[in-house]
Amino acid sequence: QEEYIRKPEWLKIKLNTNESYTDLKKMMREKQLHTVCEEARCPNIHECWAVRKTATFMILGDICTRACRFCAVKTGLPTELDLQEPERVADSVAQMGLKHVVITAVARDDLKDGGAGIFAETVRAIRRKNPFTNVEVLPSDMGGKKENLQLLMAARPDILNHNIETVRRLTPRVRARATYERSLELLKRAKEMQPDIPTKSSLMIGLGETKEEILETMDDLRAVDVDILTIGQYLQPTKSHLKIEKYWTPEEFLELKEIALHKGFKHCESGPLVRSSYHADEQVSAAAQA
Ligand code: SF4
Ligand code: SF4
Repeated sequence: QEEYIRKPEWLKIKLNTNESYTDLKKMMREKQLHTVCEEARCPNIHECWAVRKTATFMILGDICTRACRFCAVKTGLPTELDLQEPERVADSVAQMGLKHVVITAVARDDLKDGGAGIFAETVRAIRRKNPFTNVEVLPSDMGGKKENLQLLMAARPDILNHNIETVRRLTPRVRARATYERSLELLKRAKEMQPDIPTKSSLMIGLGETKEEILETMDDLRAVDVDILTIGQYLQPTKSHLKIEKYWTPEEFLELKEIALHKGFKHCESGPLVRSSYHADEQVSAAAQA
């Protein structure tokens, strides 16, 4: 019998039952689209979809070729490529009236381009139909190949986001196939390719890392000129996923934010419920103004 630490008060949030987004969920099913908001049962869904007009789509299917130990996405052999997906995502963005959209994808290690082609096409399709919507991309390392990143950056997203996820020491335990160095390399290359596009990364904490290790990760991200950082509490999706080692307190999150800003990040969201895409709408303008 494993021991679990109790969930603190600040994480016991009520889900909004006044589901004004029921129609939107129906639309997602009809269009065979997947959102991280729903798959991860994100507690911010009402605020994001209804109030902030932001959502995170997961493209290239809902089956991932990797199996990271913190992630609830199914692992397996992906289905064939859906070439119409970019247009359907673009239509949904219009239908939802989104001001900011995040496009992420499962890791498609089965594809030569790591899915970069469809990813870039999705950015372009959204732009054609929604010229005023900010588009943030959140790719996997796409096999670590420079040409894949180039394909994606050529579509000129408003933000390139790639998650470092955890500190260096814990990476092999937490992430499958991805390495700490390769993620830093991707962020560095993105900046070199398109210096005017802000870069962003996210860290989940509570997996057993120390404060010193978090600060080291901040330094590593700043060394490759990452502009935006988000820090959130890791929450175990099911009992077979990695255990929560610590609940960082809201005060500690605030302190980390101050340190991050001091280290030169242009924007930092840090809090127990912060997710990579949380308040993403504010981050583009913050990075642009800085
Ligand atoms: Fe979706 Fe991200 Fe908002 Fe959660 S924080 S509802 S995943 S956009
Ligand atoms: Fe989840 Fe991404 Fe890891 Fe796949 S690569 S298991 S989607 S975190």
